[in-house]
Amino acid sequence: MTTRRNFLGTAVAVAAATADATLFAQDAINEKPMRPLVLSTWRHGVPANKAAWQVLSTGGTALDAVEAAARDSESDPDNMSVGLGGRPDRDGNVTLDACIMGPDGNCGAVACLTEIENPASVARLVMERTPHVMLVGEGAQEFALANGFTRTNLLTPKARNEWEKWKADHPDAVRERQVNVENHDTIGIVAVDSAGDLAGACTTSGMAWKMHGRVGDSPIIGAGLYVDNEVGAATATGVGEAVIRAVGSFLVVELMRQGRSPAEACREAVERVVAKNPDWKELQVGFIALDKAGRIGGYAIQPGFEYAVHDATGGRLETSASRVSQ
Ligand code: ASP
Repeated sequence: MTTRRNFLGTAVAVAAATADATLFAQDAINEKPMRPLVLSTWRHGVPANKAAWQVLSTGGTALDAVEAAARDSESDPDNMSVGLGGRPDRDGNVTLDACIMGPDGNCGAVACLTEIENPASVARLVMERTPHVMLVGEGAQEFALANGFTRTNLLTPKARNEWEKWKADHPDAVRERQVNVENHDTIGIVAVDSAGDLAGACTTSGMAWKMHGRVGDSPIIGAGLYVDNEVGAATATGVGEAVIRAVGSFLVVELMRQGRSPAEACREAVERVVAKNPDWKELQVGFIALDKAGRIGGYAIQPGFEYAVHDATGGRLETSASRVSQ
């Protein structure tokens, strides 16, 4: 007789088998580790990876490669979630967050940076030229200007129009502290070079129409990005508050250290995010990861998450497995 309990048991087993089949398909990607290799979140990762590949294919370092990829996305005015052309906060300010981490475990970050087109490059200089890890706001901008960066108006007409439309459609948004949790497509990049060294970068204009001063996961080492040259590298995209609560990218790397494949580690980290965020059904969070051998994986809460891969066989876009099915 089928009791409710064993029916649920069967349903769980079927769900687990389906999830395993998806992961198995994902692990098939992992069977042929390659290096050098670069992996980036979302479709705009395809052109960004090309920029990284120019560095990696000519014997360059993973650190130079991830910076080149970040710059490509940041300087593209059509990419409305990163750098120039990024959507502003609810008061109309474009504020950028970025971080970078190298194989020696060193890292740098900037948050709430304004009028500077390439925040990941500023983050790299924070790492290389200061005794600190993170600079924010005015101090970050002063540091960038003192190091040869120039001011740019990052609010493009297209982003301004979207913001004005959003304000008109949400007249009470400021008073009611509404924000938008949908438009958020950070680029996170992880790479392994031909010497086997790992690096990563993560750069974003953050959640569209956020409160002024809000900083997400992307510049937070361990949340938006983590690299451990002995193990692997991971980066996150999606609602930053949820990623921070789980220290997501660090978790992915630690799970790989314990023996999980990149795909398994991303899935387990997504489960942790789900467990820590009761409103997870309303959220998108995705992780991508790369291990020391050059195996890759990705996993997201919601369907629709894509990531771009570039190795010696060329560039391609992968659709990530997700907790919620299509
Ligand atoms: N994680 C970013 C943030 O919360 C947004 C995104 O991934 O698009 O700022």
